[in-house]
Amino acid sequence: MPPRLERDADGLWLSPKGKRKPAPKKDAVPSAPVIEACHVDGCGTPASGPRPAPGMVRVPGSKDGAAAHWYCPGRCAAIARARTDLRNVGGRR
Ligand SMILES: [Zn+2]
Repeated sequence: MPPRLERDADGLWLSPKGKRKPAPKKDAVPSAPVIEACHVDGCGTPASGPRPAPGMVRVPGSKDGAAAHWYCPGRCAAIARARTDLRNVGGRR
């Protein structure tokens, strides 16, 4: 079984050997996600419903069955697309 990346309790990535890169001590909250959560109303809602707000972008789900979602245009849609691409690539094997 290939080594897998894992996170420790603080959400930091552990290398397969269990070593841990020292994280730069900034004022980031340890449990905060790497990507700042979007608080725009309707962003990230399943696209089974109507467009939650004008200009929202529908990002299709990945091939492994993830549902399509609405995202606000720009950063959120780009991140969602990238995530979907990664899932598609990962599921190709
Ligand atoms: Zn958003």
